[in-house]
Amino acid sequence: MSTTTKDARLAKLRALERAAQPLDPGANRRKKLRTLVFAAAERFLRRIDSQRAFVESESKGSGVLDYPISEQPIDAAKLLSVLEREVIQPGGHPASPGYLAYIPGGGLYHSALGDYLAAVTDKYAGVFFAGPGAVRMENMLIRWVADLAGYPPTAAGNIASGGSIANLIAITTARDAHRLTSADYPRAVVYLTEQAHHSIQKALRVAGLAEAQIRSVAIDGRYRMRVDALQHAIAADRAAGLMPWLIAAAAGATDTGAVDPLGDIATVAAKESCWFHVDAAYGGFFLLTDHGRQMLRGIERSDSAILDPHKGLFLPWGSGMVIVRDARLLEASNNYSGNYMQDAVREAGVLSPADLSPELTKHFRGLRMWLPLMLAGLKPFRAALEEKLLLARYFYDEVKELGFETGPEPDLSIVTFRWAPRGPDAARADEINRRIADALRADGRIFMSTTILDGKFTIRMAALGFRTHRRDIDLALRLLREQVAALS
Ligand SMILES: *Cc1c(COP(=O)(O)O)cnc(C)c1O
Repeated sequence: MSTTTKDARLAKLRALERAAQPLDPGANRRKKLRTLVFAAAERFLRRIDSQRAFVESESKGSGVLDYPISEQPIDAAKLLSVLEREVIQPGGHPASPGYLAYIPGGGLYHSALGDYLAAVTDKYAGVFFAGPGAVRMENMLIRWVADLAGYPPTAAGNIASGGSIANLIAITTARDAHRLTSADYPRAVVYLTEQAHHSIQKALRVAGLAEAQIRSVAIDGRYRMRVDALQHAIAADRAAGLMPWLIAAAAGATDTGAVDPLGDIATVAAKESCWFHVDAAYGGFFLLTDHGRQMLRGIERSDSAILDPHKGLFLPWGSGMVIVRDARLLEASNNYSGNYMQDAVREAGVLSPADLSPELTKHFRGLRMWLPLMLAGLKPFRAALEEKLLLARYFYDEVKELGFETGPEPDLSIVTFRWAPRGPDAARADEINRRIADALRADGRIFMSTTILDGKFTIRMAALGFRTHRRDIDLALRLLREQVAALS
């Protein structure tokens, strides 16, 4: 290469390095950005107790679109105000104490700091070789959850992005463990109830099993799977030459919080050689309470289970855990290698997340779970979960006092209820309940979602946020009382 060509190239490299420099802000610029961002976080947190749980907005965040991606940078303070106004404000606020809709979220501050460090260090947690400490941390968390569920030392698992992906990992493992091939799919039978989360059927379809037979097993008056109906269904399917394969129970159904009778289902699954999966995305971490342990008895006999730390452990969205009783089966479904991976030698006895899930490169999700558990210890988690169970019972009794018709006593922390007028208004019950839920959402201080149970429009109160306390439940009751008063 000639000297002039080389000089030109070096000059070009210097220019490019300078132009790329804003990607790596120096200490002063970092401090400025951090101060702005932390100030926004503080503005949010200092108002959180009075932050409406749902914010109806005209623009629905469309102001974000006023700032298209372009060559030019935008001032940080201005961007943060756009973010606060257009992104953080509109819609639901799962971190708010009055958020009692769907399954509430959390957003532990400790986790946010863990995410910050995970992002700054960009620690790679996919393979032991590249992030030995990170992988040990994740394995330790998975082992802790496996212990909570009563799984043997043979178990393994994965911290996925949420319950849906965790369910998908469990279902593909169940598929491969039973050596199902495409020829078997139309004969393979899955047993669940109408209360099963839709992510299970979605996972079946994504796993290629859209042709599998799905049996909606009858439920009892408490929305729990009827084991006699399960046995009958399996017997009938065997008689018809089908292959009973997977039983998916709910440990905390999303709509009602109902926990299927896991012990009795485990017995049927063992007798029938079916894979027994427990969807404990919502209810799993109630295992930290005495009541939860009673309710979920039998989960220790399942083949796989999912528990969402972003629900019952109050983590920010983005953490769902799958555990599988036999690590070999989980690994057999997910383990692959490539030539470019040859340096990533396998350490005897240490499993790597990349071998146990479809992901290779992933967020270092362990840190946001480890940090709060370490900084706070387990005690406050147990207390918060026990508080939610008690709040649900409290709400159940009080809402009944107000004259609402309630569903069954809560298994966990979800209460279903509806206004059931007699006389000429009876035919308008669905419409009245919809109006009540809409009015609450429009007010926004309390947000409860609705569902259809037994064909009837039903309101549900889900207590799971760590900021939700007695005062918020009392506010919910007061607003409901006002709604009822307005009816007459
Ligand atoms: C939330 C939930 C899921 C889905 O989990 P995501 O984290 O939302 O993907 C699955 N099953 C149950 C019972 C749930 O409550």
